[in-house]
Amino acid sequence: MSCGMAQRMPADTPLVTRFAPSPNGHLHLGHALSAIVAHDLAKAGEGRFLLRIEDIDGPRSRPELADEFRRDLEWLGLEWDEVPAQSTRLDSYAAAAEALKVRGLLYPCTCTRSEIEAAGARHGSDPGSVAGAGGLIYPGTCKRTPPDPSRPAAWRLDAEKALAETGPLAWEDALAGPQAVDLAALGDVVLVRKDLPASYHLAVTLDDAADGVTLVTRGADLFAASHVHRTLQALLGLPVPVWHHHPLLLGEDGEKLAKRRGSPALAERRLAGEDGRMLAQQLRLQHLSLGT
Ligand SMILES: [Zn+2]
Repeated sequence: MSCGMAQRMPADTPLVTRFAPSPNGHLHLGHALSAIVAHDLAKAGEGRFLLRIEDIDGPRSRPELADEFRRDLEWLGLEWDEVPAQSTRLDSYAAAAEALKVRGLLYPCTCTRSEIEAAGARHGSDPGSVAGAGGLIYPGTCKRTPPDPSRPAAWRLDAEKALAETGPLAWEDALAGPQAVDLAALGDVVLVRKDLPASYHLAVTLDDAADGVTLVTRGADLFAASHVHRTLQALLGLPVPVWHHHPLLLGEDGEKLAKRRGSPALAERRLAGEDGRMLAQQLRLQHLSLGT
């Protein structure tokens, strides 16, 4: 496979969006907004809205929550097609990681979060390295000095080598417009976790391609991750979607509602008898007021 072979979607490709929650906690208002944005964009474009359960988060994953998510979405008045959960796709993650390793684009890293902090890592914008060092720009320790092979290793994308293969890349955000890929914003991100065959970055990029997603919608907190995902599409010859990063709902204290403690879960509101369709309408209005 040669570099930079990502295909552009043909203009007549049907619109496909998705909502991809992880069953490691209940859904909150922020999740509801993400689902509604993806659902409404698909319906407005006579496209399809997919639900994909991102259930590979090891011990934190609680499979029984997937059913709760379906009832929550129904309660909000949404309709969807469900595609296979991540746990059924582990082979595809391993195959893609192997292909990148063979090309010398990944390197093993045994650093713990505290080792990375001790090495003076700067805080970056990577939201995707759930295990290890999310949010820190990796200082390249294991790239300079290959680690002890007896320690468990994650595999990181060598951003420098990736850029050399792909050349300059761009992607498009439906709200923010054209973006030049800037891998330096995230550094050498983890693609294969120590405990799992894929990180968020690798899994979501492969899944969206496999599911034919043409419009990737998600919260603005994941904006920077799209630089990595666009790079992976180029390296792996995957189709290139358009992205739509929607503003986040914030509480009065400015904290993200999705993560906020004390904000009742959708399931709790549903079981208390609240009208989910009315809540969905309120979220749509609130979202409009955020300027999209
Ligand atoms: Zn390391």
